[in-house]
Amino acid sequence: MKNVVFLDIDGVLNSSKFYIARNAGEITFPAPPESEHPVFGYERYIQELDQKAIDLLRDFVERNDLDIVISSTWRFFGCTHPRGIEGYLQPLFSSYGWENPPIIGHTEMDLDPGKYGSPERMSVERGEEIHDWIMENEFSGKYVILDDDSDFFELQPLVRTSFEFGLTEDDIKKAEEILNS
Ligand SMILES: [Mg+2]
Repeated sequence: MKNVVFLDIDGVLNSSKFYIARNAGEITFPAPPESEHPVFGYERYIQELDQKAIDLLRDFVERNDLDIVISSTWRFFGCTHPRGIEGYLQPLFSSYGWENPPIIGHTEMDLDPGKYGSPERMSVERGEEIHDWIMENEFSGKYVILDDDSDFFELQPLVRTSFEFGLTEDDIKKAEEILNS
């Protein structure tokens, strides 16, 4: 059993700094992957991730031999995409040069996506969802949470990123300290 990073996306793999540069046309994006699905194209989402943050995450994951579990509201796709958020994100991450990112799952939402179509309306605490994932998967390894929000339980090992800057080297250092403690 590998150790796990619970990964948020907005405010980790993107940031306001990134969006300012993007909207000023300063960023060149890779070509979006082909999508076999009529609804879940990649044209929009290819412009939502910061290559620098992905590279930082990738180094971190590979150096520490981690698995990734998605806890972002992007997991909303997990309820509706035929291959789940894992199947959606694999090709997207690959476009940024990360072939076969070890995304093994996502935390479950208790809400009905048909009823709560807007991610803003999802109000279940993420700490609880992570707790549920750990119990359901009988996970007994070490883990760390990368997220710019704070709706976690007090004892859960959170490295809180900022939406301003997204994932930084400093955050990675803190996360490694947690995993090596
Ligand atoms: Mg976030």
